[in-house]
Amino acid sequence: MSKALSREQSRIEFARAKELMPGGVNSAARAFGAVGGDPVVFQEGDGAYLTDIDGNRYIDYIGSWGPMILGHQFAPVKDAVHAAVERGTSFGAPTVAENVLAELIIDAVPSVEMVRLVNSGTEATMSAIRLARGYTGRDIVIKFSGNYHGHVDSLLVAAGSAAATLAVPNSPGVTVGTSKDTLILQYNDVQGLEQAFEKYAGKIAAVILEPVCGNMGCVTPTADFLKSLRATTQDDGAVLIFDEVMCGFRVAFGGAQSLFGVTPDLTTMGKIVGGGLPLGAFGGKRAIMENVLPAGKVFQAGTLSGNPIATAAGIAMLTALRDTPPYEHLEKISRRLEVGLAEAATAAGVEHSINRVGSMMTLFFHPGPVTAWESASACDTQRFSKYFWGLIERGIYMPCSQFEALFVSNSHTEQDIDETIAAVKEVFAKW
Ligand SMILES: *Cc1c(COP(=O)(O)O)cnc(C)c1O
Repeated sequence: MSKALSREQSRIEFARAKELMPGGVNSAARAFGAVGGDPVVFQEGDGAYLTDIDGNRYIDYIGSWGPMILGHQFAPVKDAVHAAVERGTSFGAPTVAENVLAELIIDAVPSVEMVRLVNSGTEATMSAIRLARGYTGRDIVIKFSGNYHGHVDSLLVAAGSAAATLAVPNSPGVTVGTSKDTLILQYNDVQGLEQAFEKYAGKIAAVILEPVCGNMGCVTPTADFLKSLRATTQDDGAVLIFDEVMCGFRVAFGGAQSLFGVTPDLTTMGKIVGGGLPLGAFGGKRAIMENVLPAGKVFQAGTLSGNPIATAAGIAMLTALRDTPPYEHLEKISRRLEVGLAEAATAAGVEHSINRVGSMMTLFFHPGPVTAWESASACDTQRFSKYFWGLIERGIYMPCSQFEALFVSNSHTEQDIDETIAAVKEVFAKW
């Protein structure tokens, strides 16, 4: 294992980037804000590994924040992209590939009868919220703290202090008017959900959640919570939206909804569905989806939506996941990592708990259980930073925040996992 890596070129390029782009990045999560220090600048990914511009190799547990479930440079996706480029990069007109990808999604995801392709997860959730409001003729949307649904104005909100559930803007630029129509509740809080539906009966357009949450670290829903989500929305005529941008095609081919046997009204997708290219999707019940323009009146459009290159990558990715399912291998090596992390932490006397669903997991520096943002946010984030940097020094690239799930890919081997556990033990030994 490489040690005492020099990251001089990364330091130089990041200093340059900071003059060119806000914070030196094109997406905030990359900036290492939560752990301090300069991000690593990469030149190549291959299988389970990343190589930075100083030539250091890392075992990658971010996988581009989810899409790389089959590893970097997965050959069928690479070949499909090459072939698509030869036919032209964008037409702004219908293609057969869009039908093929739509069929793959509809066949894979139980609740989806019709789908619209977009360019990112954010676009998918933004459009799904608009559709739910247009379809129900209602304004209020319920979301849960610690769940992330992209940078949609009405969802960039935090719990207000006065009222139990009324949201306030979480970012400058989000108006109070926008945030007023969002209610914010605690994840897994059945009572809170039922009370909100009593108080705002007939006014709630939608409930949106990550059915396996990855954006406060990995947090799973209880069976009671899932049951109550379906029952309350159904009884009140509100739209239940599963945001499966992260967990879709990850925790199972059919997403969390197939794992838990709960059928949402709408589903949002991103990350894996584009095979590493910019592509998202939202879909669901035909009766709801037929309200989307031009079949219906709810506005939705996109110059590059259904782009032939992104669509080709998505088709190759979903076809591979369907025909050669990686989920058994993912479960096996992910469990190996979970067990190894738990043993290393316990042996070193480090307070911790681990949440995992398939190849998504988080080692929380908190005795647990971590079931909502209330418990997740009580983690020892300084310990997390030490852990993170200790692992970078040992060639292990983990998500750069306590509040992100790590991802194992199908390219990770038992040896990669064992190397990772050995590195974790070394880091804990120095505490
Ligand atoms: C990543 C993510 C999004 C946003 O997707 P982008 O492609 O980054 O816009 C939305 N919801 C969830 C659950 C996500 O993990």
